[in-house]
Amino acid sequence: LEYCLTMTAQRIDGNALSQKLRAEVTSRTQVLKAKGITPGLAVILVGENPASQVYVRNKVKACQDSGLHSLLEKYAEDMTEKALLDRIESLNQDPSIHGILVQLPLPKHIDSQKVIEAISPHKDVDGFHVVNAGRLAVGEEAFVPCTPLGCLMLLKDHMGDLSGKNAVVIGRSNIVGKPMAQLLLAENCTVTIAHSRTQDLPDVVRRADIVVAAVGRAEMVTGDYLKPGAVVIDVGINRLEPEVGQSKGRLVGDVAFDDALRQAGAITPVPGGVGPMTIACLLRNTLVAAHRRAGVAAPEGI
Ligand code: NDP
Repeated sequence: LEYCLTMTAQRIDGNALSQKLRAEVTSRTQVLKAKGITPGLAVILVGENPASQVYVRNKVKACQDSGLHSLLEKYAEDMTEKALLDRIESLNQDPSIHGILVQLPLPKHIDSQKVIEAISPHKDVDGFHVVNAGRLAVGEEAFVPCTPLGCLMLLKDHMGDLSGKNAVVIGRSNIVGKPMAQLLLAENCTVTIAHSRTQDLPDVVRRADIVVAAVGRAEMVTGDYLKPGAVVIDVGINRLEPEVGQSKGRLVGDVAFDDALRQAGAITPVPGGVGPMTIACLLRNTLVAAHRRAGVAAPEGI
C-alpha cells in the first residue's frame, strides 16, 4: 500500500498554472488597451536588500512580458518615511498607475503599516491595506494578497470543489497565513490556523485534507505530519547553507519534499510551486484594478 501511495503523489506544477494565468492576463490586457487603457503598476524599492532586488526585477519583467505598463522606483536606504509617503500620495493621484506595490521589508526607521495604509485601497494590489483585509474578512470584493490567492488557485485547479475539506494553515502572518485561512473559509473548508504556540503540531496537521505551510522554517513539515493523500501547498522559501564547493545554498520549502511525497496525495515543489503564482496574481490584481478604475466589468474567471 505504501508503495502505491508513493506512486500516486503528484507534483502540482505552479509554473504551468502561472503561465496559463499570465497568458490570460496578456490577452485581456490587449482587450483593455484597445479601449485606450493600459494597466500600470508602480513598484517601489527602498534600500539594497538582495532578495528584494530580485523580486522587484521579476515583477517588473513579468509586467513587461504581459504588456502592462510598469514603473520601478528605487530609493536609497536612508529615504525618509515622509518622502516615501509623499511619493505614494502622488502615485495615488496618477491616472496611469492602477497598482502600487511597496516591496517589503522596509528599512527599520520606516513604519511599514503606515506606508501600506497610505496606499489607496483601490490601488493596493498586494491586498495588505486594512480596508482590503477587512473586505476579505466580511466577504466583500477585495484585493486579496497575491501569495494566498495563488495558493487557492493551485488548490482549486487540482481539487475542484474544496467544500467540507479539513484545511490546516501553518503560519498566521497578515501576508500569507491569515488571508489564506479566510480564503479557505470562504470556500467552505473547516479551517485551523496553527502557529508557533500550537501544541502538538504534527497531530493537528495530520487531520488535514489540505495543508498550507507558511512558516519560514526549512523542511519542518515531514511525511509523518501528513494524513495519507493530503494535498500540500508549500509557501516557504528558505535558503540552506551552501554545500562544500558551492557558493549558494539550495532553496527549499517549509516541507521536506521527498519525505512528504511518501504520504501526500499531491504537493507543490520549491521552486516552481507557489512562487510563480504569486507574480501571476500580482499581474491579475493589477489588471482587475485597471478594469475597476475604468468602470469596466472585471474579467470573469481569472
Ligand atoms: P512570518 O515570519 O511573518 O510568519 C511565520 C509564521 O509561522 C508565524 O505565524 C509563526 O508563528 C509561524 N511559526 C514559526 N515557527 C513555527 C513553528 N515552529 N511551528 C508552527 N508555526 C510556526 O512569515 P510569512 O508568512 O511572511 O512567510 C512564511 C514563509 O513563506 C517564508 O518562508 C517566506 O519566505 C515565504 N513566502 C513565500 C512567498 C512566495 O511567493 N512563495 C511569499 C511570501 C512569503 P507566530 O505567529 O506564533 O510567531
